[in-house]
Amino acid sequence: MSQVSIIRCADYEVNALYQSVKQSVDAIGGIDKFIKKGQSVLLKPNFLKIARPEEAVITHPEFIRAVIRLVKTVTDKIFIGDSPGGLVKAEDIYEQCGIKQVAQEENAELVRFDKIKQIEGIPFARIKDEVDVVISLPKLKTHNLTTLTCAIKNVFGLVPGLYKVHCHKKAPNFQVFAKELVRIYSMAIPDLSIIDGVLAMQGEGPSGGDPYKLGLVIASADAVAADAVVSKIIGLDPFSVPSIKIAHDRKLGQGDLNNIQVIGESIAKVLVNDFALPEIMGIYKIPNFLLKSILRFIPLMLTIDAKKCNNCLMCVKICPQKTIEQLNLKVKINPKKCILCLCCSEMCPNNAIYLRFLKGRRKK
Ligand code: SF4
Ligand code: SF4
Repeated sequence: MSQVSIIRCADYEVNALYQSVKQSVDAIGGIDKFIKKGQSVLLKPNFLKIARPEEAVITHPEFIRAVIRLVKTVTDKIFIGDSPGGLVKAEDIYEQCGIKQVAQEENAELVRFDKIKQIEGIPFARIKDEVDVVISLPKLKTHNLTTLTCAIKNVFGLVPGLYKVHCHKKAPNFQVFAKELVRIYSMAIPDLSIIDGVLAMQGEGPSGGDPYKLGLVIASADAVAADAVVSKIIGLDPFSVPSIKIAHDRKLGQGDLNNIQVIGESIAKVLVNDFALPEIMGIYKIPNFLLKSILRFIPLMLTIDAKKCNNCLMCVKICPQKTIEQLNLKVKINPKKCILCLCCSEMCPNNAIYLRFLKGRRKK
């Protein structure tokens, strides 16, 4: 039976956070169960794009600090790295999001994923095989394309930069994409996942949603089970999340809550009933054969808020379909070729791209 621990943590005050992170790992066997003395460890947070920690887009730097301190009780060979989305440079995120400072203060080494190892045609960051232990530090967020981005999806960041965009092109709808995501997960299953659910993201995640004070640290050696528990807490049936269902069916982890031992807080005590889910979720219920016809109308759904757009052209560069162009100093989406991968929306630094059928965006 898979084990998942749920521990409360009100905020990012580092001492309290350290205690919560430690309790979450102690509850599933303690850090010595996962790391032996002197082993090397890669901490893999979610560094999607440059964002302030309070926006809940990235794993909070103080969360990473707390985990480093826990790992340091066993080993000092600690590396931290992620591959951000699109064209964002990892070092810019490290510098501008406070990660570099934490790494320096705690004597951990920041790494770039520029050395690659191909596995079944997928370029993985080579460091995942060079270290002894990989600890995933996902941010708990909703996701417009995958419903949830948490422990399973965090592994996607081990695939560097633009290949992720290529994956979207290869898998041009959410069901095919979920299969590809799980295939990638199956090749890089982390030894342990410790989820930053202190300040989660609700609504139109993974970058355009709103912070939600969930106040939880969740840990498990089984990322599928961790995501199943997270789903239930935020009001989702775990098997309605395609990646959980597919990973469970492939026996890559346990998605059935009846077969998961929850330690610490019970799900019933921490579940919330006001966590906003992505409004696009309705489309996921449409069978694939119908979805193909409906996708023809997708151009009516994506729009760019001209008031927020500063013409940075990130979306133009990142679109796998090359379907966004700049005309008369305005960026425009050519609806005919759009596959609704939402890469543009995810990576827009100003959250200017969204789905038009949404009933207005929440104010930031
Ligand atoms: S929509 Fe966003 S990503 Fe695209 S040009 Fe405008 S600000 Fe940049
Ligand atoms: S316009 Fe946006 S959603 Fe459409 S294919 Fe390009 S990146 Fe994906």
